[in-house]
Amino acid sequence: MTAVIAGADVAVVGCGIIGLAAAERLTARGLSVVAVDESGVAAGSTGASGGLVRALDLAGRHGSWAAQGLDRYLRQGWHGTWPAVREHGSLTLVDADGLPDALAGVAAVRAAGQDAQLLSAQEISARFTDLSVPEGFIGVYEPRAGWLPVAEVATAMRRDAGPALQLVRAKATGVLTSAAGVCGVRTTEGTVRARAVLLAAGVGSAPLAASVGVRLALCTRSVSYCLFQLDQDSGSTDLPTVADATTGAWLRRWNRGRTVLAGVVSQETDVPATVRGRVSADEQRRVREVVRHRCPGLADAPAVGGVAAYDAMVVGGQGAVTDWPSPGGLVTAVGWNGNGFKLAPAVGELAADRLYEMAG
Ligand SMILES: Cc1cc2nc3c(=O)[nH]c(=O)nc-3n(C[C@H](O)[C@H](O)[C@H](O)COP(=O)(O)OP(=O)(O)OC[C@H]3O[C@@H](n4cnc5c(N)ncnc54)[C@H](O)[C@@H]3O)c2cc1C
Repeated sequence: MTAVIAGADVAVVGCGIIGLAAAERLTARGLSVVAVDESGVAAGSTGASGGLVRALDLAGRHGSWAAQGLDRYLRQGWHGTWPAVREHGSLTLVDADGLPDALAGVAAVRAAGQDAQLLSAQEISARFTDLSVPEGFIGVYEPRAGWLPVAEVATAMRRDAGPALQLVRAKATGVLTSAAGVCGVRTTEGTVRARAVLLAAGVGSAPLAASVGVRLALCTRSVSYCLFQLDQDSGSTDLPTVADATTGAWLRRWNRGRTVLAGVVSQETDVPATVRGRVSADEQRRVREVVRHRCPGLADAPAVGGVAAYDAMVVGGQGAVTDWPSPGGLVTAVGWNGNGFKLAPAVGELAADRLYEMAG
């Protein structure tokens, strides 16, 4: 029996964007929350995130969560206190085969109250001078989408949660149960008592769920980006955020000047759950080889930095918010596979709804 170090209505394991979004919504409903993280706030995948937000969900994996997320980010959170979306626009590229999905996506975005337009390859090249798109490609352009500084959003969520959110720096080692269901979390620093528990600890959620007989099929996938310095002929770029469904490339402007953040979806799984503030020369080559076809200036732009990290993905499935019938009081919100930031406001609200029913 370890010492009780904290108690609250709800214990949240993981202070990434998902855990914080849920914690803020729980405190807004008058519940107390203890959030446990072994590395501090936004130290996992969240701290590495590129922060791209858009309403379009081409694969339709997460219903309207991306649109809800963009709407909430545009409103600067629930109290107007989050940083503003950098509304550089979002351009999602598909080839002719992708047209039906693009049309369905545009309809879904508009149904959710956001603006989306279809652009031809010529219109894209004329409008965005750094881009070059093959004939026959189509772009879904969302003028009010863009990106956000992720660490600042995490800080704002934590601030909005106020004193009803207590942070504990410790590694969670198991979920505790009594006859009635979950009753807390065991940590390296002692026990946290709670009537409901949210596991939002990325891949770290799997062993915690297993401690009470719940199987989460999670692994890590490599997610990285490089920073490239476009030539300095002009002082800025008109580059929107770009998601190229034909190659897996994604781009956005860096904070200032003509620096561009660029990544290409990787299929490498089971990588270490670590965040490194640099990328290998091989990764720079891999990314450049793809992105130079959409942004020709990146072919010989010097690499000036980058991040090599990971995200949790569900093996053979999608990220989900799940309230488990047994043990009662356990909710998991995991498996966001490179997309968790844009979904976080919707995911956090849904998780908080479920937890409120259990602990409210
Ligand atoms: C390079 C990169 C770029 C990305 N770009 C985008 C983007 O542009 N747009 C987008 O929508 N998404 C993007 N993503 C994905 C997005 O960042 C993630 O999906 C999201 O941050 C996941 O949040 P999370 O809270 O689930 O996990 P995390 O941020 O990983 O948080 C989990 C937390 O749990 C803690 N933890 C784990 N195990 C334990 C334990 N046993 N005890 C205590 N604490 C524990 C960890 O320390 C960590 O802080 C990107 C990701 C990366 C890596």
